[in-house]
Amino acid sequence: MQTLSNQASQTLALTSKTRSELFDYIQGAIEYYTKTVAYMRVAPELNQTMLDALRAAIANFNFNAPRAPIDAVRFAIGGLTTQQVHTPHPRYFGLFNPAPSQMGVIADTLVAAFNPQMAAWSHSPFAAEIEAHLIRSLGEKFGYNPHETDGVFTSGGAEANHTALLTALVHKFPKFSKEGLLSVKQQPVIYVSTQAHHSFVKAARFCGLGTNAVRSIPTDDKLKMSIDALREQIAKDLNDACTPAMLVATAGTTSAGAFDDIKVLEKIAREEGMWFHVDAAWGGAAALVPELSYLLEGCEKADSITFDAHKFLSVPMAAGIYLTRHKTILQETCAISTAYMPLDAEGLDVTDPFTHSMQWSRRFTGLKLFLTLAVAGWEGYAETIRHQTAMGNLLRKELEQGGWRIVNDSPLPVVCFVDESLENGSTPEFLKAVAKRIVQSGEAWLSTTLLNGKTVLRACITNYTTQESDVQVLVRLLRRVAGEILNER
Ligand SMILES: *Cc1c(COP(=O)(O)O)cnc(C)c1O
Repeated sequence: MQTLSNQASQTLALTSKTRSELFDYIQGAIEYYTKTVAYMRVAPELNQTMLDALRAAIANFNFNAPRAPIDAVRFAIGGLTTQQVHTPHPRYFGLFNPAPSQMGVIADTLVAAFNPQMAAWSHSPFAAEIEAHLIRSLGEKFGYNPHETDGVFTSGGAEANHTALLTALVHKFPKFSKEGLLSVKQQPVIYVSTQAHHSFVKAARFCGLGTNAVRSIPTDDKLKMSIDALREQIAKDLNDACTPAMLVATAGTTSAGAFDDIKVLEKIAREEGMWFHVDAAWGGAAALVPELSYLLEGCEKADSITFDAHKFLSVPMAAGIYLTRHKTILQETCAISTAYMPLDAEGLDVTDPFTHSMQWSRRFTGLKLFLTLAVAGWEGYAETIRHQTAMGNLLRKELEQGGWRIVNDSPLPVVCFVDESLENGSTPEFLKAVAKRIVQSGEAWLSTTLLNGKTVLRACITNYTTQESDVQVLVRLLRRVAGEILNER
């Protein structure tokens, strides 16, 4: 390699010696973190003193006096160690955030260093073909024909859902792409359940439909979209001269892991000429486990699917995926031609990723999934998903034995519960106080959520390192904290 004599470039490139020292240092720090995170507080203590100290420490970097690289790196490691909820902690019973796969961590490091540009295919043939292969392979797991499958890696499930709405509009309204919403004579509306992810509300806003275009359909006692309520709302909308444009089935709701009835919803979408989207951001992992894949039956007929590899597949954040069986819809939605994009691949049958994505310059997101899959294989993934599902079943059993009542019905490891054995054991005040105390204790992390207007505690096995003993600690902690709160009344 050419040596850099110029001071300016050396500032960013560092010297070979410094680079080795830093990489040795962070390798040690990551190894230490990975081995000891289970003994740390799960969540930091949040208060004014801590906030003041944090802001002062950061403001100390006014960038007028450059620091030694090792000092800057130590500062970052210290901050990450003490000032975040440790989602890699085995007692983080949280919001679908995983312990990262180590092949994923390595992949992200390589991607940062090699910095492939995923806008034009010709700039990154390796990256583009890896992602295309993953899109086809995942599509196949969801029952798509790999020859018809298209898709794109996104910044997350929210962008995948946003892409779904855009493709739905382009498909439904032929003039939308060029003339915009003014060419659409009737108000387009989209249907989701009240338990659906709120990224659809944002997407409706971003696409110019407005948030009123989102019809939140009530759910039944199993938290699935009510078919009767959906039919009623569609009839009302048709009567009011609105156009049903997209119907969303959630396969694994964020709060309670409920699965909408995909097959029935698909039929209704066809009857009404709607785009049918399945949001399987978390629950889509069931497609990798033969005994759970029944949960996704009907997905193969979906026009598009959202799936997040940074949830149940445990790759580092963020790695969303949009899949479709309409081979040309992304092209119709996203493609643009410009003189400045390279033409080096002319004559080859390839796709420029920027013509299939909302993004232009784009990071090579697929490598963390590719390397993890290459090493774990489908079977390795199936095993981790089975393990987490088993831990979820254990949690349900132990909670019931501990006097809690489970209020959701999910085959996947997200558990919602209240305490009906205690007076006031299912009031929002009590349940929120329980969650708050557990988070403050530093021994575990869980949260509350709303199910059909009722506050419940929510604990999810979202980490492949969570063991039986972690589940038992949580259940004991819940009992202790509930007792403390009662005694103080
Ligand atoms: C997490 C989630 C999303 C949003 O995904 P991000 O990756 O956070 O953008 C969308 N839908 C469902 C069902 C989710 O669980």
